[in-house]
Amino acid sequence: MEFVLFSYFCIMNYADIILPLPLQDSFTYSIPPAMQAGIGVGQRVEVSFGKSKMMIGIVLNLHDTKPTGYAVKPICRLIDDAPIVTASQLALWQWAATYYVCPLGDVMNAALPSSLKDDSYRPRTETYVTLAGNLEPAKVGIVLNYLRRSKRQQVMFETYLEMSGFGRQAALTPVSKSDLLRMCSGTSAAFTALVDKKLFTTHEEEVGRLPISTVETCQPSTLSDAQQTALEEINISFNTHATTLLHGVTSSGKTEVYIHLISQTLKEGRQVLYLLPEIALTTQLTTRLQRVFGQRMGVYHSKFSDAERVEVYRRQLSDHPYDIILGVRSSVFLPFQRLGLIIIDEEHEPSYKQQDPAPRYHARSLALMLARHQGAKTLLGSATPSIDSYHLARQGRYGYVKLTQRFRGLSLPTVEVVDVRRLKFQHRMKGIFSQQLLDAMGKALSNGQQVILFQNRRGYANFLQCRTCGWVPRCDRCDVSLTYHRQHHHLSCHYCGAIYQVPDACPQCEGHDFGDVGMGTEKVEDAVHQYFPQARTIRMDIDTAHTRHAFEQIINDFASRRYDVLIGTQMVSKGLDFAGVSVVGILDADTMLNIPDFRSAERTFQVIAQVSGRAGRAEDGGRVILQTRSADSDTIVQAQHNDYEAMTATQLEERQAFHYPPFTRVINVYVRHRDAMRADLLAADMARLLRAAFADRVLGPDRPAVARVKSMSVRKIMIKIERNASPRAVYDILMKVQNRLMQQPSASGVQVYYDVDPM
Ligand SMILES: [Zn+2]
Ligand SMILES: [Zn+2]
Repeated sequence: MEFVLFSYFCIMNYADIILPLPLQDSFTYSIPPAMQAGIGVGQRVEVSFGKSKMMIGIVLNLHDTKPTGYAVKPICRLIDDAPIVTASQLALWQWAATYYVCPLGDVMNAALPSSLKDDSYRPRTETYVTLAGNLEPAKVGIVLNYLRRSKRQQVMFETYLEMSGFGRQAALTPVSKSDLLRMCSGTSAAFTALVDKKLFTTHEEEVGRLPISTVETCQPSTLSDAQQTALEEINISFNTHATTLLHGVTSSGKTEVYIHLISQTLKEGRQVLYLLPEIALTTQLTTRLQRVFGQRMGVYHSKFSDAERVEVYRRQLSDHPYDIILGVRSSVFLPFQRLGLIIIDEEHEPSYKQQDPAPRYHARSLALMLARHQGAKTLLGSATPSIDSYHLARQGRYGYVKLTQRFRGLSLPTVEVVDVRRLKFQHRMKGIFSQQLLDAMGKALSNGQQVILFQNRRGYANFLQCRTCGWVPRCDRCDVSLTYHRQHHHLSCHYCGAIYQVPDACPQCEGHDFGDVGMGTEKVEDAVHQYFPQARTIRMDIDTAHTRHAFEQIINDFASRRYDVLIGTQMVSKGLDFAGVSVVGILDADTMLNIPDFRSAERTFQVIAQVSGRAGRAEDGGRVILQTRSADSDTIVQAQHNDYEAMTATQLEERQAFHYPPFTRVINVYVRHRDAMRADLLAADMARLLRAAFADRVLGPDRPAVARVKSMSVRKIMIKIERNASPRAVYDILMKVQNRLMQQPSASGVQVYYDVDPM
C-alpha cells in the first residue's frame, strides 16, 4: 500500500542547491529517500562541498535529471521544515544575479544574516521562577518564619510573592530570575538556597533580543496645506503609476507626508518598507516613527548584531511580522508577505549602491523589482532627485509630485559664489578662507550662531611632497599617493587602509624639507582655530565618526550647541537638522566637479544643494558661501541659483550626445591580475572578445584612476548598452565571453567582475 502511495506522488531525486560561494549559481545533490517527503524549495540543507567541507545551502529547485560527468553526493541534513526563503525572494535573487552579472551565491551572501548560513544562531533564553509546591496564602507566615535565619532569603521570597501577585490573583504573573534579583538586590547564593529548600523551581524560556518600544503612540501630526496637497497628489498618482517621485525642497517636511502614507497603507492591512541611505540617519527617524507606530515597526541594518537580524528576518516570515521595516539597503532582501508601499528616502544617494563585494546592487533598482513582485507602490523622495529617476518621471514612466514650500515658511538660504581663482590672482586669498567667508563666520559666531564647513577630503593634507626634489610618498600596494594625517602623524592609503610612518628623510634626495599639498578636514579645523581661537570645533569624517555611536554623539553635541563649528566631509550633507546654523561654507567645490565621471556635475550639484539645505533652518534664513575656482561653470551657476531644472537639462543633453545613462545602461567590466603586463594583455583579449559581440558599444580597456589596488593591477572596459536590451541576453553573452577568456592558458590567476549601473 505504501509503495502505491509513493509512486502516486511525483518523487524528485535531485535538488539544485545555492551555496554561499562566488562560483556557479547552484550545485546538484541527490535527495536521500528519508528526506523526500519533507524537502522543498527555499529550505536550508547541509551538504558536503569539496573534499570535506560542510556548508549550508538553499534549495533552488527539485528535479529528476541525473547530472552526468561526476558522482552526485547526497544531501546530509534537512535543516528547516518550512522555507526560509520565499518563492518571491528567490525570484528577486535570480533577477539580481542576472542583472548584476554575479552568481546566486553572492546574492545569497548579501541577502541572509550570516548565522542563517552557518546555523550558529541560538535563541536567547531566560530563567523563570515559580513556587515549587502548592502554597496556601494562610501558610505564608510559616514559610517566612522558617526563613528567619536568612534575612536575604526571606526578603527574596517576599519580593517574589509581591511580584507574582500571590494571594491577589488566581494566575500568577511570570517572574524572571534576573528581575527578581534586581528588585530585591538579592544574590544568586540566596536564590540557589531557596531552590535547594524546595521553595522555588526554575525553568528556561525563549525570549527575543529585539528591543520593545515602550513609547506611547499618538496620532500623526496635522499636515500643512502644501503637504496635504502633496499627499493627495501622490495618492492620485499611485492610481496610474506604481512608482512616483516626490521632489520636495530641503526642509519641506517630506517625512510627515511619508508618515501619513504609511498610516494609510497599514489601514489597508499591508506592510511598508522604509529605506534610508545611511544607518546613522535611522536613530533620529526611529524615534519619530515610533511615536506614531510604536511596536509595529522593526529596524534592520548591519550595525545590529547578527542574532538580532536573524530575529527580524524570522519574524517577517512568521504570522506576526512587523508592519513597517525601517532599514538600509540590505532590507530589500527581507521576506515580506503583503507589502503595500516602499519609501526610498534621499533616493539620489550613491550609498544605496553596494560597491564591494558582489552583488554590486542598487537598492533602488531591487526595491522597484520587489515592489513589482508584491504589487506594492514605490515612493522615491529627494530634494535633488537623481537624473535617472527625474528623467523617467519626465517621460511619464513615474508619477511626479513637487513640494516647493519649506516647512513653517522658512526661506532657502542665498548662495554666494566666491571666485577663488580671481582672488588668488589679485593676491587677496589668505590661506584657505576668503574674506567673505571669514566675515560671515565671524558675524555668525559673535551672534551665538553655528557654522558648518564642508570639505570633501579627510586627513590633513592630500599628500606630502619633498620640497627639494618633488618626491611624493605612495602606497606600496596601490597606485595612489598617501594622505597625511597630522593628528596621528602618519600617512594612510585611502584605498587599502595601510598606515605608513612619515619618513625622516626623502629616500630620493635625503632632504628633510617636506611640504603638504592640498587640504583635508584636519587642516580646515586648524585654520578655524587660527582665525577664531575661541570657537569650539568638531570634525565629522570617517576618522572621527567611524561608528554609529560616534556619529550620533557628534550630531547630538552639535545640535545641543556644545560646538560652534562643524567641519565635515559629505557626511554633513545627509538629511540632518540643526536649528542654530546660519552659515555654511563650501571650501572647495572643484575637486568633486573635476572627477572624470559622467555623474560628477550631477553629484556636485546635489552635494551643494544638500549642504546648503543645512543652513537657514533658523528663523532668520542663512548664508551659503561657495568657494570655487570654476565660478563660471554651468554647474556652479546652476547650484548658486538652486536651478535643478537647468542642471538636469544641461546634463541630459550631454548624456544623450555621448550615450550615457539614462539613455543607455553602463556595465563596467574589470579585469584584475597580480601581474600588470598580464592584466594589460588579458584586458585587451577580453575587450576584443566583447567587441565581437557588442561591436562599438565597447570602450577600452583603460586604466582606472587608481590602476593598482592591494597589489592587484586593474583594467576597466566600459560597455554602453541600449536601455531596452534584455538583461538575460546581456548576461548570457558576458558569461560566454568570460568563459572563452578563462579557457586561455595565460588566464590563470585572472579575476573578472562586473559593475552594472556604476555610481
Ligand atoms: Zn627629495
Ligand atoms: Zn594602498
